[in-house]
Amino acid sequence: MVAAFTYEALPARVRFGSGTLACLPDELDRAGKRRALVLSTPQQRDQAERVAALIGPRAAGIFSDATMHTPVGVTRAALDAARSLDADCTVAVGGGSTTGLGKAVALRTGLMQFVVPTTYAGSEMTPILGQTEDGRKTTQRDAAILPEVVIYDVDLTIGLPADLSATSGMNAIAHAVEALYARDRNPIISLMAEDAIRALARALPAIAAHPADPQARSDALYGAFLCGCCLGAVGMALHHKLCHVIGGSFDLPHAQTHTIILPHATAYNAAAEPEAMARIAAALGADDAAQGLYDLAGRIGAPRALRDLGMPEAAIDQAAREAVQNPYWNPRAIEPEPIRALIARAWAGLPPLGA
Ligand code: NAD
Repeated sequence: MVAAFTYEALPARVRFGSGTLACLPDELDRAGKRRALVLSTPQQRDQAERVAALIGPRAAGIFSDATMHTPVGVTRAALDAARSLDADCTVAVGGGSTTGLGKAVALRTGLMQFVVPTTYAGSEMTPILGQTEDGRKTTQRDAAILPEVVIYDVDLTIGLPADLSATSGMNAIAHAVEALYARDRNPIISLMAEDAIRALARALPAIAAHPADPQARSDALYGAFLCGCCLGAVGMALHHKLCHVIGGSFDLPHAQTHTIILPHATAYNAAAEPEAMARIAAALGADDAAQGLYDLAGRIGAPRALRDLGMPEAAIDQAAREAVQNPYWNPRAIEPEPIRALIARAWAGLPPLGA
């Protein structure tokens, strides 16, 4: 018997493939957009310039100051640019940071968003925006945040450096893992989550060995798309909360933090969610979900210890305190001592407990 569920499909138009960036001019025309503000990070300015050249007269200008965690000051500067250029839409070319800027602009202006993802973060499929102001990160969910058109072009991910590919891929898997034991899980999203883990678990070791392997890149981007759908559709739990707290408090890099915490958060929830764990393990091709994730990170050369990201050992207590401060839903109750032990193991890079 299928248990009762609620499923709300999110309205997004997705084009996936190799060379699909070429359809961006048509997508803009189809939507009647004539003055696109192209967004990127400073590191991807070249890519933004190539996109602006591709769309020709439909490009109103480029804003290339997108920054991790969407600082409100940067958003204000982008809003000024959009206003002065009379932009009627944004085209975000890049990872979660650039997508975040497009979302922040859309939330304040209603401008239509076109996103061309170049990492596996998955932000493009979610109505979620995290922003920082005065060092504080706040997250909100609003239908106006969801990008309208997403163009996945496998070719643009070929050059994603191997280390970033590994951690960005693990970051994506984290969305699928938590979707499988989400409080509001549903069978459709669970199917996506399983297939996403399977695709990424197959692709990431192949990418680590041969970063330009087109088949592996295609599998990884497809998996990342599905992971983004999972993150956008159902609520997350302990893993995302821990990453938010630890990453935010100690200014640790986003995808690396996710990679390190994931096996430990999975182990913490293992006994409470045996069915989800069996599905995760099967998709990984492993005997145990948490250990399988830890081994995968090791196989692809991703970091496994928070201390290697520069988190001081003395900060473990503070992280543990903050992680239990604001109550949030998790399949297993949030217990202070086991949470501290989890963070201590992640700090030291030990295998997950109980595996
Ligand atoms: P990122 O966007 O910060 O990218 C990291 C660096 O890699 C940047 O310098 C970027 O320019 C560069 N880069 C990206 N693609 C590249 C490519 N193909 N080749 C070479 N360099 C490339 O990193 P990210 O992990 O994609 O995103 C992290 C941010 O996204 C965080 O702020 C996180 O909070 C946010 N995020 C939000 C959601 C959401 O749903 N709201 C989901 C996931 C992540």
